[in-house]
Amino acid sequence: MKISIYPGSFDPITYGHIDIIDRASKISDRLIVAVLNNPEKKSLFKVEERCEMIKDAIKTYDNVEVESFDGLLVDYAKSKGANIIIRGLRAVTDFEYELQLAQTNRQIYDKVDTIFLLTNIQYSYLSSSIVKQVAKENGDISKFVTPFVSDKLKKILNK
Ligand code: ADP
Repeated sequence: MKISIYPGSFDPITYGHIDIIDRASKISDRLIVAVLNNPEKKSLFKVEERCEMIKDAIKTYDNVEVESFDGLLVDYAKSKGANIIIRGLRAVTDFEYELQLAQTNRQIYDKVDTIFLLTNIQYSYLSSSIVKQVAKENGDISKFVTPFVSDKLKKILNK
């Protein structure tokens, strides 16, 4: 059974993330979207809220689930019996950091491999931070996030 983990902050989940989830779900028997609970990284949404938005976005997939984790990603992967980590690459700028991360993870746990999925060109500009900036300025975010996420953003930003 191929169990994959797609880790990230997802603050909040965008259509770029959903595109990666869709594609990763087709090459995995079971895909776990893992939301990093890192108190040192300032996030707009609490980890429970980020999970809730992901849960809504993945409701039509029967082999995808969401969970939060803290600590080392490889320890989490081990505990789930997962051998694949999925990461999305948007541009060359993502590459250096992702390479370092993947190689470090493999040094710590050599049974895990990272698979990079190249972002769909349609979403290559998209990031959670950009979405938050546009939402703060009352811009239209309907092309970036689901209506569920859009509502949550408006609520938290008092828009
Ligand atoms: P992190 O803080 O781990 O970078 P993110 O939530 O920003 O968390 O991203 C999680 C994963 O999703 C990363 O692999 C990132 O490259 C990928 N990703 C983010 N935005 C997009 C996008 N627009 N298209 C494809 N992949 C994306």
